[in-house]
Amino acid sequence: MSATSKLPPFDPGDPLGIDDLLHDEDLAIRDTVRAWAADRVMPHIADWYERGELPGIRDLAKELGSIGALGMSLEGYGCAGATAVQYGLACLELEAADSGIRSLVSVQGSLAMYAIHRFGSEEQKQRWLPGMAAGEIIGCFGLTEPDHGSDPAAMRTHAKRDGSDWILTGRKMWITNGSVAGVAVVWAQTDDGIRGFVVPTDAPGFSAPEIKHKWSLRASVTSELVMDEVRLPADAVLPDVTGLRGPLSCLSHARYGIVWGSMGAARSSFEAAVSYARTREQFGRPIGGFQLTQAKLADMAVELHKGILLAHHLGVRMDAGKLRPEQVSFGKLNNVREAIEICRTSRTILGANGISLEYPVMRHATNLESVLTYEGTVEMHQLVLGKALTGLDAFR
Ligand SMILES: Cc1cc2nc3c(=O)[nH]c(=O)nc-3n(C[C@H](O)[C@H](O)[C@H](O)COP(=O)(O)OP(=O)(O)OC[C@H]3O[C@@H](n4cnc5c(N)ncnc54)[C@H](O)[C@@H]3O)c2cc1C
Repeated sequence: MSATSKLPPFDPGDPLGIDDLLHDEDLAIRDTVRAWAADRVMPHIADWYERGELPGIRDLAKELGSIGALGMSLEGYGCAGATAVQYGLACLELEAADSGIRSLVSVQGSLAMYAIHRFGSEEQKQRWLPGMAAGEIIGCFGLTEPDHGSDPAAMRTHAKRDGSDWILTGRKMWITNGSVAGVAVVWAQTDDGIRGFVVPTDAPGFSAPEIKHKWSLRASVTSELVMDEVRLPADAVLPDVTGLRGPLSCLSHARYGIVWGSMGAARSSFEAAVSYARTREQFGRPIGGFQLTQAKLADMAVELHKGILLAHHLGVRMDAGKLRPEQVSFGKLNNVREAIEICRTSRTILGANGISLEYPVMRHATNLESVLTYEGTVEMHQLVLGKALTGLDAFR
């Protein structure tokens, strides 16, 4: 008997055997999220994308809550208390359906809920987190402004004291979930530095007009937040953090989810390319039989599964409490960049059909243009790593 006959068979869906690194519960969570996305998102996503809407977002949020996907890796307050690896697997499956759905979950769990869970008072946690974990309350996270994106320290939104109250004024831009949110975590300048505020969106002076005409993340709600002297009680401020450390640690958590999620978009596009290459015939044979097509498929498979391995590695470090922000930058930089490349290469294999919404690749590719920019652009992550490697700050 040859040595290879004792080996497990080669699995084209898992060529490196990464599933062997996963526990039974990890696989069960992955299957649950995958089945939910197959049932509730996949049949409709092309239509939603074409219409530029996420209809039934409130019902979708409740369903995501019921499968434990919201604030998934947080403890208590109705959250699932999952591991970082399990949360990552969920992000991958959701983004394999669409980056917009994963964005809904990331912003809810890793940005809005995480901010309240990590920096909020016990009262704030009790008031908001159980409803958010159940998807009954949608949250958003307002950091970016029209004139301040990569450099949030320069933000103009400010909160001033009026007696014990706060008066919040300013504008935030490109805010995921903004128009459907019941609560907004808004970062603002104060006399003590940047602070986070938990803002009920029905507060007088708060409005969140939706941003239309997007050609990316079309099945996702993106909004402006306008705060015109919004009066908030003293206890609206997140008590346990001052300065940019607050929003940046939330972003680090969300970026970690993107490291996994982007590989979901890549996997979906890659699978579409493999399936197409096996059946589409030109010059009398399947295009998958041509060496040039096989080179593309092989290179994509290498980057896809290296990316998943990297995501798993970072997840294990996060679960061990050893994941550094620079390592998250490493993962986000590599995986989103490679994911978009995989989508573009898949698109070429599908030829003209590659631009059709009948196939997922162009939708994923255009979605990833946003993913490349939000949660820190490619350049910001290069600068983070550049600084870590050289000790020299090149941001300014
Ligand atoms: C669909 C979508 C959803 C979003 N959701 C949210 C959300 O929920 N909450 C939120 O707060 N924000 C959100 N954002 C905003 C996002 O985080 C910002 O767009 C991002 O941080 C970049 O900011 P900017 O668009 O203002 O670009 P800019 O900061 O103006 O950057 C423009 C270009 O200049 C480059 N650049 C800037 N500074 C330097 C430098 N020092 N060296 C080299 N290059 C530099 C950037 O890398 C980029 O390529 C979302 C964005 C999108 C597209």
